[in-house]
Amino acid sequence: MATQKKSSSKTPALNFGSAWDYAPAPETTPVPLKKSYDLFIGGKFVQPKSGKTFWSINPATGKRHARIARAEAADVDLAVRTARTAHENGWSKMPAAERGKYLFRIARMIQEKSRELAILESMDGGKPIRESRDIDLPLVAAHFFHYAGWADKLEYAFPGRKPRSLGVAGQIIPWNFPLLMAAWKIAPALACGNTVVIKPAETTSITALHLAEIFQQAGLPDGVVNIVTGAGDTGAALVNHPDIDKIAFTGSTGVGKKIAASVAGTKKMLTLELGGKAANIVFEDAAIDQAVEGIINGIYFNQGHVCCAGSRLLVQESVHDEIVAKLRDRIETLRVGDPLDKNTDVGAINSREQLARIRELVDSGVAEGADLVESSCSLPDEGYWCRPGFFTGVTPSHRVAREEIFGPVLSVLTFRTPEEAIERANNTCYGLSAGIWTDKGSKIFQLANQLKAGVIWGNTFNQFDPTSPFGGYKESGFGREGGRHGLAAYVKV
Ligand code: NAP
Ligand code: MG
Repeated sequence: MATQKKSSSKTPALNFGSAWDYAPAPETTPVPLKKSYDLFIGGKFVQPKSGKTFWSINPATGKRHARIARAEAADVDLAVRTARTAHENGWSKMPAAERGKYLFRIARMIQEKSRELAILESMDGGKPIRESRDIDLPLVAAHFFHYAGWADKLEYAFPGRKPRSLGVAGQIIPWNFPLLMAAWKIAPALACGNTVVIKPAETTSITALHLAEIFQQAGLPDGVVNIVTGAGDTGAALVNHPDIDKIAFTGSTGVGKKIAASVAGTKKMLTLELGGKAANIVFEDAAIDQAVEGIINGIYFNQGHVCCAGSRLLVQESVHDEIVAKLRDRIETLRVGDPLDKNTDVGAINSREQLARIRELVDSGVAEGADLVESSCSLPDEGYWCRPGFFTGVTPSHRVAREEIFGPVLSVLTFRTPEEAIERANNTCYGLSAGIWTDKGSKIFQLANQLKAGVIWGNTFNQFDPTSPFGGYKESGFGREGGRHGLAAYVKV
């Protein structure tokens, strides 16, 4: 990174030396990565009409590793018409318990194949295998199990009303949790009797197409889920298709605003899950070591490629120096490197473009006068990498305090009273998540009622569960995914 100021903290950085050098523990399970991937339409893998493809890159090496089909408007049209036929002719009319059985079967098959799916997820997206294996894949299966259970119980979710499917759902997902975002969107849509056309993000299409193989093997009726891969125009073609009943989008606030503008005045229903700039608030009465681990998990988890990342740390002034010293020591111990090594804590940045965005914002933090503290770890020569780091001396007007970095870089701010913590935490255009660390449960409840965020964690961070709704306030979007609430986005009552 460009010019950096030295840390202002006085404690010398600990030198852990060889005590922290582990032998490499790379994944050895063979990976079923293919040379090329087609679109998945009507239960079959089909080539795009134009024959065009693009490359998917392994971000840990920067090298191309598979060709992906590029869907254009004609392919999207075929996928939507296929989904419409599947909806009208079978899926929406099938007894709900039967739909549930397919979802259960898919969930079990995901569990059986979870190791290879986790490896593919780490290869294509750069996240550490420990996370894709222990967090993403179990949650993917859990979402299918959860919504399998709802399929024949919808009238209990909407008592006294008659929930019916919407029709064809167009779903667009980002690259940070490729399979998990697919599960969040596909499972509730199918449980409610809708059919789906989904577009994975350009840099991480591969695991969705392996999920398609599971749909085939589970005998899911043809056309119930269709997958169109491509770049930004493919998403736009899906959004603008006239025969879509609902758009579900997870991604950046900028693209979300464009989508909202293009569906305005149409029959299409819309849910948006957008960006965030979560406040992670630490009071002086918190268990400090536990809070430091929560802060680490809140921002360095998945390289900070997390919409609900705790990217604004608000610490009570009296514990600022202690926490900063501990954070500085702790980031030195984070292992950055090969996503397929089981010891790795921080993997590769998802793409060259994302790395450039992170660098630009970090440089702005330095230029605006904040102090950058970075891990001294060495980075691999090839691929896209960012040292875990944090800024101190941040003021609320700095860009690093206002804009989503979406990388492993934290901004530390201070507060004196709970009122000031609330005011600072809510001083953002986003409102997706927040964290509160304190010894007093009552303080958590008091603050949670005043924080404008969809998800608030108390003495923990980045915990997800399919039974619990997720979604934002303000420019973080609208609508909820997960749990009973997540069904509402896919039914008319
Ligand atoms: P993005 O650039 O907005 O892309 C998201 C998806 O939209 C991708 O599939 C993208 O396709 C597609 N897309 C791009 N332009 C489009 C257009 N004009 N019309 C329709 N679709 C379009 O976001 P990202 O960089 O992938 O993801 C990071 C963002 O997602 C962050 O802001 C993060 O906070 C947010 N996020 C939010 C949540 C949540 O639940 N709130 C969860 C995860 C991520 P291409 O990839 O082909 O461009
Ligand atoms: Mg890739």
